[in-house]
Amino acid sequence: MLRIASLSSGSCGNAILLSTSRTNILIDAGLPISYIDKSLRKLDKRLDQMDAILITHEHSDHVSSLEMISKKIDIPIYVNFEVIDRLPKKFKEMNLRVFPENDYFRLADLDIYSVSTSHDSMSSVGFCFYNNDHKAAIITDLGIVSDLVISALIGYDAMLIESNHDLEMLQKGGYPPFLKKRVQGARGHLSNDDAAEAIIALTTGREQKVLLGHLSQENNTPSKALDTVASRLKRSKIDSIDLKVAPRREISSVISLS
Ligand SMILES: [Zn+2]
Ligand SMILES: [Zn+2]
Repeated sequence: MLRIASLSSGSCGNAILLSTSRTNILIDAGLPISYIDKSLRKLDKRLDQMDAILITHEHSDHVSSLEMISKKIDIPIYVNFEVIDRLPKKFKEMNLRVFPENDYFRLADLDIYSVSTSHDSMSSVGFCFYNNDHKAAIITDLGIVSDLVISALIGYDAMLIESNHDLEMLQKGGYPPFLKKRVQGARGHLSNDDAAEAIIALTTGREQKVLLGHLSQENNTPSKALDTVASRLKRSKIDSIDLKVAPRREISSVISLS
């Protein structure tokens, strides 16, 4: 059994609960600890029941409450090998563990694969989780979907993928030019069209559950993201994708693989 729920997705803060029948993992902790705790309780879990926290990258919308959490509970925090020496001092007092990049590691009853992503952070990854023939993937904060990412994600059953912006809304919107350039650059964020293309490339024909996430508040809307991806899938005659949006500052629908 694998269950995933996004507690909040976007630049307002990110955290994802991933559970098996025995293990609970939090992926990223970029929200106030009170929000994380309250959201977990709504899902019948508690923060002190988490077996580990996995960090995708060091941007504050992914790590803002790590320090507070590690002061409150003794929980292993897994970070990328590449960045451990370059993390700010506050990280060094945490119960840090290192995971390998572009390789597998084991955590309780989960096999996990980390894959490098192209993003303007020290180093960033997405994750694939394997348990009892199920595969779930988390891939946000990336400017391009590389061949490396595609090959890591192949065969997923459930995936949370970034669908950050509508290109036209971004181009016509109020962001300063440098920020527009950053967002749509190779080390920025995926557009709705980029997400659609990746989903199409990864279609297996079996039912696959997809949560679109990390939506921009200024340059996207949930219906725009859904419509863009759904119409691209329809044009490609793909009807095996169960498509939903992970909201900002709200718990998403729970995705269950059993
Ligand atoms: Zn982010
Ligand atoms: Zn980021």
